[in-house]
Amino acid sequence: MEENSRPRRTSDRRPAIAVGRVFGVPVYVNASMLLLVALVTIMYGEFVRQQLELSQLTGYLVGFGFVVFLLGSVLLHELGHALTARRYGIGVRGITLELLGGYTEMDRDAPSPRVDLLVSLAGPAVSLVLGLLGVAVTLALPDRTLLNEFAFQLAASNVLVALFNILPGLPLDGGRALRAGVWALTKDRNLATEVAGWFGRAVAIGTVVLFSLLTWLGGLPPLGLVLILLVAFTLWQGAGQTIRAARISRRFPLIDLARLARPVFSVPTGTPLAEAQRRGADAGQGASTLGVADSSGRLVALVDRTAAEAVPVERRPWVAVDSVARGVDGVPSLAVGLGGEQVINAVQAHPGAQYLVTSGEDVIGVLHIADLAQLLEPKRKMTQ
Ligand SMILES: [Zn+2]
Repeated sequence: MEENSRPRRTSDRRPAIAVGRVFGVPVYVNASMLLLVALVTIMYGEFVRQQLELSQLTGYLVGFGFVVFLLGSVLLHELGHALTARRYGIGVRGITLELLGGYTEMDRDAPSPRVDLLVSLAGPAVSLVLGLLGVAVTLALPDRTLLNEFAFQLAASNVLVALFNILPGLPLDGGRALRAGVWALTKDRNLATEVAGWFGRAVAIGTVVLFSLLTWLGGLPPLGLVLILLVAFTLWQGAGQTIRAARISRRFPLIDLARLARPVFSVPTGTPLAEAQRRGADAGQGASTLGVADSSGRLVALVDRTAAEAVPVERRPWVAVDSVARGVDGVPSLAVGLGGEQVINAVQAHPGAQYLVTSGEDVIGVLHIADLAQLLEPKRKMTQ
C-alpha cells in the first residue's frame, strides 16, 4: 500500500511484531491487525455459517481462514512492491502488514517517475493476478462446498486488496502512480507528492461518505462500517503525514547555515553567570548563544540556556558560568557550506538541540534545532 522512504525513527511507529523473513525481507505485523482478525473472523464466520449451514465453530474457523487469506494476499502484494524496488536498486528495510494493507519501507525514494510508477503498480498487479486465479478456481469447483468457499476467499481478498489500493490518493498505490504522473509533468517530486496527498484525503472522505450511505440504505452491516471508518481514518492520517513531509522537503533549499547560525558571545572561563549574562545583554546580542572561552580565546563550551535559567537570580553572581555549560567536544558540528538535504541527514543522524556551525577550524555560530524547525514548519508551534 504505502511507500515511505524518509528515515523515521522506530519510536514514531505504532507497535509492530516481527514475524520472520521472506526473500530476505523482514516482515512485521502491526498490532492493529489483531482488531481486524477478530472483526473479520466474527463477521465473515457468521455470514459463511448461514450460507453453508455450518456449526458455529466451523463458521468461525472458516472466517479465520479468510483472515489468513487476506493476510497472505497483503503479504504477496507487498512483496510485489519490495522485489520490484530491489530490482531497481532500492533497498527494502521491511514489510509491515496492517489493516487492509501494509507498507513496504524502502531506504530511498525512486530515482525517476518511471521507477516510481513500476514499483507502485507491481503490488496491485500481483493482487489482480491472484484474484483472477481465485475467480477461475471458484468457477471450476462445485458450488456450496468448503473448497469452493476457500477459492472464493482467495478471489475476494485479492480483488479487494487490488481495488482498494488502486484508489488514486497517497499513501495508496494509485496515489503513488498519480504522483509519478504529476512528477513527470511538473518535474517537481515534492509538489507531485503534495497533490497526490490531497487526493488521498479526498479518497478518505469519499470512502466514508459512500459507505455511510450504503449502510444507511441497508446494504452493509454496521460492524462493516466500523471497519471502513478505521481504514478511512488510517488513510486520512497517512495522507496528512505525506502532505506534511512533502511541504517540509520543499523548504529544504531554504536552509542556509550561514543565516541560521546564531553568533556566539564568549566570556572567559570562570566568569560568574550573572556577569556573563550582563555582558551578553550589554553586547546587544540577546538572540545569540553564550559561550565560554579558554585563556587563548578558543571556544570550549556552550551555556545551556535551560540550566542557566534554572539557577536562582540571587545565586547567579556566585556560580561560575562553566557549571551550566556543555563542552563543545560533545556538540555535533555542521560545515557552513552544507546543502539543505545534507543538513537534514546530519541532524537525523545526530539528534540534538544545538550544532556548531563551522568554517574550516573556526566556529562561526550555533544552529538551534528550534530555528531549523521554525524555518521548515513556520505554522507549527514549537514546544522546545
Ligand atoms: Zn501496495
